[in-house]
Amino acid sequence: MPELPEVETSRRGIKPHILNKKVTDVIIRRKNLRWTIPVIMKKQLIGQEIIKVDRRGKYILLYTSAGTVILHLGMSGSLRILKKSVIAEKHDHFDIVFSNNKVLRLRDPRRFGAVLWSQSDPLKHKLLINLGPEPLSEAFTAEYLFENSRSRKVAIKPFLMNSNIVVGVGNIYANESLFAAGINPKRATHKISLKSYQNLVPKIKAILKKSIEQGGTTLKDFINEDGKPGYFQQTLCVYGRDSEPCVNCGNLIKQITQAQRSTFYCTTCQK
Ligand SMILES: [Zn+2]
Repeated sequence: MPELPEVETSRRGIKPHILNKKVTDVIIRRKNLRWTIPVIMKKQLIGQEIIKVDRRGKYILLYTSAGTVILHLGMSGSLRILKKSVIAEKHDHFDIVFSNNKVLRLRDPRRFGAVLWSQSDPLKHKLLINLGPEPLSEAFTAEYLFENSRSRKVAIKPFLMNSNIVVGVGNIYANESLFAAGINPKRATHKISLKSYQNLVPKIKAILKKSIEQGGTTLKDFINEDGKPGYFQQTLCVYGRDSEPCVNCGNLIKQITQAQRSTFYCTTCQK
């Protein structure tokens, strides 16, 4: 599943090709993605220029003066920039064609992705309005997590993965950040001290930043090859390492399930 670093890499990858470019066509080959692609978008988007390529959580936002395209990659989506002449394949459901003869193409085999159209402020769209702060923004602090955790009895790992608390901390990043901070993923959020949150927050930021940077190094591949940035190359300390020795202490990494997601942790290093 594309996580925040992959989405940010995609945003950075498409931006130079479509910013300030005029839309000449919109091709909807299959409109029933997670939600139906609104037909009105086609009429309103053609002739417009992309004036900003932004991201909020895992949503990519293509602003024009007539409205904003809201893109989500779902479980299996990827974006590519191609020459207009490249023939669409089976899972290529949606294209925006530009005046420079390039096309932004969404491929999404499982069709959990989304293409939506907002004629007002996209940040107020019902899917975006309740999102928590961006993890790399100044709004995401230890104090913020501490204050928002006092009345919640949920475990820390699902708490971090709740997009109403903070966006973009996916399963891999939640596992790795908790290991880096030495916090047991089962601990109740309201029992974790401010000091522990002060330790945790910089770890989350550092791990996400590193992933985005690594994605950035493969931008060329992203554009030319299969649309998959190499964000996953980051060394993982616990994620997917069930029954392998802990990189710190050698104790075997344990796997459990929390909120239907796999959790990996070291019972010695994470208290
Ligand atoms: Zn350990």
